[in-house]
Amino acid sequence: MDLHSGLPYWVIKNSLLDYFHPLKDDFSTDIVVIGTGITGALMVHELCNAGLKCCVIDKRSIATGSSAASTALLQYEIDVPLCRMAEMIGEDNAVTAYRACLQSISDIEKVLESTGVEAGFERVPSLFYASTQKDVKLVKEEYEMRKKHHLPVSLLGKEEIKERYKLQVPGCGLLNEESAQIDAYRAATGLLLYHIKKDGLEVFTHTGVKECVEKRGGYVVETDGGYKIKCKYVIVAAGFEAGKFLPREIMDLTSTYALVSHPVDPGELWPEHCLIWETADPYLYIRTTGGNRIIVGGEDEEFCEPERRDALLRKKIRILEKKFRKLFPDIPFKTEMAWCGTFSTTKDGLPFIGTWPGKKRMFFDLGYGGNGITFSMIGAQIICKKLQGLEDERSKVFGYERIEKYGS
Ligand SMILES: Cc1cc2nc3c(=O)[nH]c(=O)nc-3n(C[C@H](O)[C@H](O)[C@H](O)COP(=O)(O)OP(=O)(O)OC[C@H]3O[C@@H](n4cnc5c(N)ncnc54)[C@H](O)[C@@H]3O)c2cc1C
Repeated sequence: MDLHSGLPYWVIKNSLLDYFHPLKDDFSTDIVVIGTGITGALMVHELCNAGLKCCVIDKRSIATGSSAASTALLQYEIDVPLCRMAEMIGEDNAVTAYRACLQSISDIEKVLESTGVEAGFERVPSLFYASTQKDVKLVKEEYEMRKKHHLPVSLLGKEEIKERYKLQVPGCGLLNEESAQIDAYRAATGLLLYHIKKDGLEVFTHTGVKECVEKRGGYVVETDGGYKIKCKYVIVAAGFEAGKFLPREIMDLTSTYALVSHPVDPGELWPEHCLIWETADPYLYIRTTGGNRIIVGGEDEEFCEPERRDALLRKKIRILEKKFRKLFPDIPFKTEMAWCGTFSTTKDGLPFIGTWPGKKRMFFDLGYGGNGITFSMIGAQIICKKLQGLEDERSKVFGYERIEKYGS
């Protein structure tokens, strides 16, 4: 699958990692992780820290799947508002999901701190505004629900938003001070290189997994080069291509668009460089980068065929530019590069983490949705605990038991 095209900013900013280490012999280990994106990298970090024996395998260069295209906003707020999610899965479960995402941002920060991986992690506030007058009611309802559960949030009026962020919006908005932004490509490559060095981790790149054959006590992972890896457990962190390993498709794949601007004079950016997103569906979202550039994304389409997706890139970028200029008419804004990618969301906004019913030795760590990266952290913790015989109370909220109701 062609996961992205155009020019994803991060690969150009960091330059592509020249790491070439295909599997050239049969191999044996306890756990095979499929995928070197941010999900696989965080997974391996947890496994190595717990002293579990593992290796990682990827058909591409390290982290050049969706993680290289990610705009990487880290928010505790999920695509489905808490008040709506509570109606779908119950208030307790919805609050557990929101709290898990809040904790996940701090956990990602700790992982980067403890490994010394410099991945542009930056704490910034996040503003979620009502796109229309009609959505003001939803924003207020969401505010009450989050307040009730002591989640960090404040309600700002239209004038307050204009004064504080120089941003002209139709109605009110919710602000929280607990969000962050990151460079997901750098985080994934940095973490894997750290564990290669520290733990002798084997990362087999340019090696596709053809099939995982279940055997007594584990799996034999068969590669496209004809080699086999014998293991006790497989963890699928294959992102939007994980469908190949699932008994049936669980996601409708979609397309999404993003651009990065020329650097802007820091004084011309909005105060606090908060993340910005809105109630519209699909929503527009905005962040800054360490080099004072602006990233704008959104304009999702409900199909994923790469040719159709790519044909729309130019048109979608014009729309994103127009929307940005409407919000910030005074910021001199010029697009430097743009890209598009495959994306997916679930009906309840939550990822699928755990085992497929009846397949106890194959874990799926699929952090889909606008919070894919925070979900990756949660998935890594839940699965690592499970492998150590420990239960995690969050697993019931993210598990595959929901598949009939919330899968595609
Ligand atoms: C434009 C865009 C913007 C986004 N913005 C945000 C955001 O702001 N915040 C957020 O949290 N999330 C965001 N996301 C989602 C987030 O980027 C993803 O959830 C995350 O990157 C997925 O990481 P991953 O490691 O699971 O997948 P990937 O990065 O795709 O890694 C999976 C890896 O598995 C490998 N693989 C697949 N199949 C096989 C096989 N058969 N054999 C061997 N290897 C295989 C692939 O080569 C790939 O390298 C965005 C995504 C896109 C595209």
